[in-house]
Amino acid sequence: MTPDGRRPLVAGNWKMHGRVGTTSAYVQRLLELLDDDGTVETAVCVPFTALAAAVEAARGSRLLVAAQNMHQEDDGAYTGEISSAMLAEIGVRGVVLGHSERRLHAGETDRALADKVPAALTAGLLPILCVGESEEERDAGETQRRLRYQVQEALEKVPTERLAGVVVAYEPIWAIGTGQVAAPEDADEAMAFIRALVGDRSKEAAGRLRVLYGGSVKPENAAEILAQPNVDGALVGGASLDPASLAEIARAARR
Ligand code: PEP
Repeated sequence: MTPDGRRPLVAGNWKMHGRVGTTSAYVQRLLELLDDDGTVETAVCVPFTALAAAVEAARGSRLLVAAQNMHQEDDGAYTGEISSAMLAEIGVRGVVLGHSERRLHAGETDRALADKVPAALTAGLLPILCVGESEEERDAGETQRRLRYQVQEALEKVPTERLAGVVVAYEPIWAIGTGQVAAPEDADEAMAFIRALVGDRSKEAAGRLRVLYGGSVKPENAAEILAQPNVDGALVGGASLDPASLAEIARAARR
């Protein structure tokens, strides 16, 4: 638990990596290496095709298997899409929403996220909502303006009593996959700001809300960033492809 009683969450985002044939071995290895005692919640966010294999391999453990996107409607004429109900049906328990790579390459909008986040909650999925500023926005002193817009818009339709059930991942775009990690104090400041935005709706929810840092987290830099008071865990991309690295980062989140 963090000093404020929030259970840390460390989630590995495989992005478009991983095959069905290698998923079981990855999950088994991760489970061997993890201290699966519930102190730190651990998740793997895998491509759609690997979800069933990950769910099967994680059965009987606390490891949470999450998707990397979903559609906001349960069913309908949306060719190529997957709904929250479909994910929940196969045992998936979480979903990454609004990752900057989807915003950049797949036209993900804050408007759609405003429907996706409550839809995920309704289906019983843990939504991991990604927000973060670009390098240009940071340099122009626009970080808070960007975060305010993204957080308020995406959480607009979430009922106040369910706000604390959302996980927000603060991922400065310039830190994703670049090896450039935000300075721990800067990340903490941005994450405190995100918590305060939720606090504008409910102080109680803000106290329980988990905010993760994402952006080039590796075993070597995890402890310093995870020690910050507003950092409740990490969303880990590249380093999560090695189960040993993800397990080491999860260990760094125990405190
Ligand atoms: C991510 O994919 O969310 C991420 C933070 O990637 P990386 O750890 O590789 O920067």
